[in-house]
Amino acid sequence: MDAQSAAFVNELLTVINGRDDTRMIVEKFLATLRREFVFDNVAAYLQDENSGTLEIIYARAVGRAKNAEADAAWGEEIANRVLTQRQLLIQEPEHISPSENRVHQAYLLGLPLRTGRSVNGALVFVRFGGPVYQDEHIQMATLGAALLSILFERRAWKKMNDELGELRQQIQLQEDFVSTISHELRTPLGFIKGYSTSLLREDTSWDAETQKEFLTIIDEEADRLSLLIENVLESARLQSKTLPLRFQPLRLDAVLRDVTTRIRSRYKDMDVSLDLGSAPAIHADGVRIAQVFENLYTNAVKYAPGSPIFVGLKQVGQSLIVSFMDRGPGIPPESLPFIFERFYRVRTEKATGTGLGLYICKQIIEAHRGKIWAESTPGQGTTFFIELPINQNAIT
Ligand code: ADP
Repeated sequence: MDAQSAAFVNELLTVINGRDDTRMIVEKFLATLRREFVFDNVAAYLQDENSGTLEIIYARAVGRAKNAEADAAWGEEIANRVLTQRQLLIQEPEHISPSENRVHQAYLLGLPLRTGRSVNGALVFVRFGGPVYQDEHIQMATLGAALLSILFERRAWKKMNDELGELRQQIQLQEDFVSTISHELRTPLGFIKGYSTSLLREDTSWDAETQKEFLTIIDEEADRLSLLIENVLESARLQSKTLPLRFQPLRLDAVLRDVTTRIRSRYKDMDVSLDLGSAPAIHADGVRIAQVFENLYTNAVKYAPGSPIFVGLKQVGQSLIVSFMDRGPGIPPESLPFIFERFYRVRTEKATGTGLGLYICKQIIEAHRGKIWAESTPGQGTTFFIELPINQNAIT
């Protein structure tokens, strides 16, 4: 190979190793290749993993610089033959009449794209009206197809790697969940068992006050257990979209006031400020929306203990925005993108929980065509936002 060819191959390799997305790389690569190997149009096809059929993944009419996937049918037939015969194919016009439009005289060159040893696609070039493909042209195109094969193979590996990463994270979450849930189930069960055994002891008689105290603990722990079980079941139903929602006209300010009253009676020294602007009624499931607000309150109690809480409601354009702000320790930035995922808990978290609360909130809000998100500055606090559309015609 002479120095000039080596420099060209090097240039092609640099493009292939570029940091752009695949489409951009293919585009730059073919533009570079075209300096040494002339063609009018080009199309790349890869076999779909599941169906086995060829899918067009890139096509360009270079001369007209158009995105041409839609009309890349011209290469399909030869691409399929390359795939079955696993080899390079050339197809030239049978009759050449000088009067015929050169667009009807297609000189096709089809080259196999490979993954390892197997052919899983084809790269097809067309020249309209020739010239015929000479040996050196074919060599250049073969080099191009080999380099593109490497690019596509790398892309497939990356996709697989990403999927594996997601799967691994999912498994990790499930494992964390199993250990959390067994802990969460055991704690209340331990209390229930312990206090009921004490009450049943025949060698001790408890005074009425102590009995009442033990029974209250048993009662509260039983409530905690059933809430936990309900949450697990509910998150499964939400995930399978079988949780029915009852939509009716609903005033969010009224729901917020109700929930706040309930929460205040449960946590007597909680400092809540409400700032509820006037807002039209929306169509929503009152029970579920109240559940979301309650969850945000209990999270604030758990994760921002002692902090004042500011709850706001305002109309912005065609949406209502509810905000829950606390001045607690906040959420680490690396955890923030995951807190709405099923079973996710901030790893250093000591307060009890299952990592289902915010997941359930998100599913409920999304079922109302709304959005929920959080903003947090460590050391300063967290704000949860809920956006619900006022006009929910789309919901049935
Ligand atoms: P759980 O409370 O059962 O752990 P959630 O889904 O309700 O599950 O919350 C997920 C995580 O988000 C919690 O583990 C907690 O670390 C974090 N979090 C939620 N709300 C707050 C908040 N107001 N301040 C700080 N961290 C929070």
